[in-house]
Amino acid sequence: MSNIPYKIFLEEDEMPKAYLNLRAFMKEKPEPMLNPQTFEPVTEEELNAVFCSACVEHELNVTDKYIEIPKPVQDFYKMYRPSPLVRAYNLEKLLDTPAEIYYKFEGTNTSGSHKLNSAVPQVYYAKEQGLTRLTTETGAGQWGTALAMASGFFGMDTTVYMVKVSSQQKPYRKAVIETYGAKVVPSPSETTEVGRAINKQYPGTGGSLGCAISEAVEVALSTENCRYALGSVLDHVLLHQSIIGLESKTALDKYGITPDVVIGCVGGGSNFGGLIAPYMADRLEGRNNVEFVAVEPASCPTLTRGRYAYDYGDIGKVTPLMKMYTLGSGFMPSPNHAGGLRYHGMNATVSKLYHDGYIKAVSYEQTKVFEVAKDFARVEGYLPAPESSHAIKATVEEALRCKETGEKKKILFGLTGTGYFDLSGYMKYNSGEMTDYIPTDEDLEAGFASLPEV
Ligand SMILES: *Cc1c(COP(=O)(O)O)cnc(C)c1O
Repeated sequence: MSNIPYKIFLEEDEMPKAYLNLRAFMKEKPEPMLNPQTFEPVTEEELNAVFCSACVEHELNVTDKYIEIPKPVQDFYKMYRPSPLVRAYNLEKLLDTPAEIYYKFEGTNTSGSHKLNSAVPQVYYAKEQGLTRLTTETGAGQWGTALAMASGFFGMDTTVYMVKVSSQQKPYRKAVIETYGAKVVPSPSETTEVGRAINKQYPGTGGSLGCAISEAVEVALSTENCRYALGSVLDHVLLHQSIIGLESKTALDKYGITPDVVIGCVGGGSNFGGLIAPYMADRLEGRNNVEFVAVEPASCPTLTRGRYAYDYGDIGKVTPLMKMYTLGSGFMPSPNHAGGLRYHGMNATVSKLYHDGYIKAVSYEQTKVFEVAKDFARVEGYLPAPESSHAIKATVEEALRCKETGEKKKILFGLTGTGYFDLSGYMKYNSGEMTDYIPTDEDLEAGFASLPEV
C-alpha cells in the first residue's frame, strides 16, 4: 500500500480563501443571458430586482479569476468543511483495478449535500445588503434545507415553496426546514397569483418545480427587501461550488497527485462545475491534460441528447433565457430516483465547455446506478445519494477499463450527497421493482418544440 492515507485532511489555514471564477479562464465566454420578453441581453438592473446584488455581480463577472470568500462565510464553512477527501482503497480492491480512485464527499452536513456551499454565501450577501426576506423553491428538499440552515444561522426570514407532492411525501424534510426557522409553503399555494391560477386550472394538482419557481419569484418581486435564491444552474452558484474543487486540489497537491480524470454527476451543473473548476482552469491555460466526464441519467439526457440553444430556466418562462444544453423547458422527465438530476437545462459555462470539447458526457439507467451504489455502500461505508451514484457508476466503468489495459489512472469523483433522504429509491431497487425509462426521440422532439425562437 502506498503512503497516501484513507482520508487527506486540510488544516484550517489551508482552506480556500477565494472562489475560483472559471469563466475568467476561458478565452471564449458563454453567451449572455437574454431578457425573456425582449430577447436583449439582460441588464444588471433587471437581475437586481430578482437576486441579491452580490450574486448578480458574481453572475456577470467574467474577468476576475478569484473572488474573495467573506470571512463570516469562511467561518461557517469551518463548521462542516473541509469535506472528506477519501482514497477509495476498498472500492479499488473490490474492482481489482490498478487505477487510483479518490472521492470528495459532500454529504456530511445536516442538509445532506453540496447545496449548503452556495446557500451560505447567498444568505450572507443578502443580509449584508440589508435584505430581510428570501424566497426559494425546492423539489426533493435538499436546497430548501440548505437555505433554511444558512437562514437560521444569519437570521433571514426565508420562505420555501415546496412542490406539494414532495411536501406530502417527505414530511421529515419539512420538519427539518421548519426546525431551522424557515417557512414551508406547499406549491401551488393560494398565496400568489400564479399559484391561485394553477390551482384553479388544475384542481388538486401536486405541483411542479416550474410552478414553485414562478411562485417564489413572484413573491420576491412584489415584496419589499425580499429576493429570490436559486440552488443550481446559474454561474454564481457554480462559483460558490468551486470550494469543492479547490479543497480537493489542495489536498491532492499535498501528495503530488493530479487526477487523469475528474468525474461528476450533473443536474443543473453547479456541483460538477465547482468540482472541476481548478483543474479545468489549469487545462484552459495549458498546464494539464485532465479529462472531464459529466454523468447524467438516461431518463434526462441533457448533454448527451439535448440541443445547444437559448431556453428558459423554468416551465413558467419567467427566468432569463440562457444559451445552454437543454431538452426544452417543456420536457417532462419520467419519474426516477435522482430528483436532483431531473432538470431540463444545464449551466451555461458547463454547456459551453462541453460544446467546445473540453468535457465528455455519459448517461446511465437508474438500475445500473443503484447496482454500483450498493457495492459502494458495502465497501466504502457511506450510503450514496442516487444522484451521486451516477458518478460512482462512471468511475467504476473507468476503473474496469484500467483493469483491462493495465493503466494506473488517477480518478477523482464527486460524491455529492448522502442517500438517507432517498431511501424509497433503495427500497424499490432492493425489492426488484425499479424500472428504467429512456425517452424516445419522439419524447425529446416534444420537449424541443417548446424551445423559443431566438
Ligand atoms: C442537487 C443535487 C445534485 C445536482 O447538483 P447540480 O449542482 O444541480 O448538478 C446532485 N446530487 C445531490 C445529492 C443533490 O442534492
